[in-house]
Amino acid sequence: MCAIHRHIFGDVYAWAGEERTAPSLPQKMTKKGPTPQEIRDGRYDAEASHPYLYFPAGEAMTDHFDQSIRTLHRISGLRELTGSQFASAIAEPWGEINVAHLFREGNTRTQVVFFTYFAQAHGHTLDSGRFSQDPGFRLKFNAGRFMVQATLDATLLAETLAEVIDVDPSVDGGSESVEPTTDVTVYYQPHYVSLGGVCGAPTAIGKRCQRRGRCPHHGTGIETNEARPTS
Ligand SMILES: [Zn+2]
Repeated sequence: MCAIHRHIFGDVYAWAGEERTAPSLPQKMTKKGPTPQEIRDGRYDAEASHPYLYFPAGEAMTDHFDQSIRTLHRISGLRELTGSQFASAIAEPWGEINVAHLFREGNTRTQVVFFTYFAQAHGHTLDSGRFSQDPGFRLKFNAGRFMVQATLDATLLAETLAEVIDVDPSVDGGSESVEPTTDVTVYYQPHYVSLGGVCGAPTAIGKRCQRRGRCPHHGTGIETNEARPTS
């Protein structure tokens, strides 16, 4: 993910490819979007008034990122899935990778490139052009990620991603499109291992929150002080 970010933004930001170092507690990283209820009502373009919280910079952020990437890579049989099944499989890990929000800027573009490669590596395609060219799609995609963030419900994100998985690509890929490649290997070297507890808060969809470290949404969990580089 860092390598992709560096590749895209290396000419733009001096810190391209580096994890963000701010904000850290007690300051919180938030973005505003429609409320979860507005999103449930399909009002993805409602006024962005509701705060959605991301992990603070540091070990909690990198640990959550590592966990989410591991979850993604543990999913087996991706090659055999239909497009919509593949979208459902990757939706929650994608949403959680976004809650880590590894970079100061350019997170979505980096995620789209990463998942385009990830899809290719597992026998699927992802039409990256829709993200840059279709504002309505982008709003729905953002709303889907917000729903994972606040409710851990990845249904909308899965439904949105299904619109761009294994479909004919949009006519012009646009400036953020990814060139088709063959023989792509997606790998990730975890930065840390840590001993943090899980948040454990009950959610509206009937399962307990598995975010470790200090869950930004529920404000609970154990802060991980014992993270250390693996190599
Ligand atoms: Zn939580």
